[in-house]
Amino acid sequence: MMGAAVGLEQAGIPLTVFDPAAPLAACRLCGAIFQTPYHRELQKIRRYGQGLPDPPDLLAKVLDLGNEWRKKHTERNHTQSEIDAFTQTGWAFTPEAANVLAPFGIIPMGNLHPDLISAMMEAPRKPDLRLLEGGE
Ligand SMILES: [Zn+2]
Repeated sequence: MMGAAVGLEQAGIPLTVFDPAAPLAACRLCGAIFQTPYHRELQKIRRYGQGLPDPPDLLAKVLDLGNEWRKKHTERNHTQSEIDAFTQTGWAFTPEAANVLAPFGIIPMGNLHPDLISAMMEAPRKPDLRLLEGGE
């Protein structure tokens, strides 16, 4: 469910702040997004590593950080009934999440509900970095 966010560097968002090609975690309900310097470092190694395998310790750290963030984010921000109601829709994201995530290049693929299309069409072209969690 990734698009290709292009032009972020030209828009003043360097890859050291957010790398659209790097691993990340995001919330399908509210659009909160998480990417740390470790995530970006892994992508940098992949980009310049000439096909070498991912460093296992860094890959494990990135996976652990993302899983930990998902668990804490969900516990702090969403109720089980909210999660259950969303699951019933069968949608990839809520319209609110689609509106936040589209500028980061994260878009649902496949059949799209008109509410999701509208949310992405109305989204700002530049991502709001205040919504990016994970430190610098
Ligand atoms: Zn959320």
